Amino acid sequence: IQPSSCRTEPPEERVSRHPCYSEEAHRFFARMHLPVAPACNIQCSYCNRKFDCVNESRPGVVSELLTPEEAERKVKGVAAQLMQLSVVGIAGPGDPLANAERTFGTFKRVRRALPDVLTCLSTNGLTLHRHIDEIEELGIGHVTITINAIDPDIGREIYAWVYDEGVRYEGREAAELLIRRQLEGLQALAGRGVLVKVNSILIPGVNDEHLVDVSRKVKELGAAVHNVTPLIIAPGSRYAEEGRRAPKPKELHRLQERIGTEGMKLMRHCRQCRADAIGLLGQDRSADFRLEKMADDPA
Ligand code: SF4
Ligand code: SF4
Repeated sequence: IQPSSCRTEPPEERVSRHPCYSEEAHRFFARMHLPVAPACNIQCSYCNRKFDCVNESRPGVVSELLTPEEAERKVKGVAAQLMQLSVVGIAGPGDPLANAERTFGTFKRVRRALPDVLTCLSTNGLTLHRHIDEIEELGIGHVTITINAIDPDIGREIYAWVYDEGVRYEGREAAELLIRRQLEGLQALAGRGVLVKVNSILIPGVNDEHLVDVSRKVKELGAAVHNVTPLIIAPGSRYAEEGRRAPKPKELHRLQERIGTEGMKLMRHCRQCRADAIGLLGQDRSADFRLEKMADDPA
């Protein structure tokens, strides 16, 4: 595998071609998510595994799961038809790093097939520290980490459990481990020149007052952009059973204003895409590019 040409591009160049990092770019450049990662190693209270990961995608429709071989075939087919394609990412439907072999196997194939495309990975961050070298070697220039809290007493309201190296952690201990790994991973990636976007889910009554502190901390550790998205509660999740509510648009805007005044670059155009989304943001064309519609070996 040759190191990616895109990782050697200056950061401004990588920002300007990624539709999520640049509001301007989202009008011209398309992204493609490859749903190759089914498993997850934590349990968020808003999630129900029957749906896509809420960290980087919208619950409600389960993605068609692809093997790395199928993903490669699909990437080639889409690239041949979608000229604006600039980013190929893996965002679920579970946590990409809880499926490391499938995820990195897919990135290797993508890199060989399309050496100039930007690659992007989204994760809850639990096992990020084990993959920093691999991310760098594969030239993955953009990583999104979902960080909903930096205080374990708030985190315990968000995460039911965390599973790592054969041990299941619960309560404060689980949140403490996850948060420590997220922040270490963020700092390590930023130190290697990877552009890190932090996603945070605004959960009324849980982290609404806390996300300004989260933003300050992730900025200090090197995050390039912060994306606060409204809570989407999956049916059957713990939050659904507790009768929690999504934030109102004005609650989200108020919080974004507060974060903006701290000097952090904010993403305000997130469309909470599915883990198999294809096309310009807000224009999901995944149905046009189903695997069975693709030729076996596109040129
Ligand atoms: Fe669900 Fe959270 Fe795992 Fe994503 S990280 S699949 S939201 S439990
Ligand atoms: Fe970009 Fe948001 Fe879609 Fe992720 S979910 S690809 S950040 S628009």
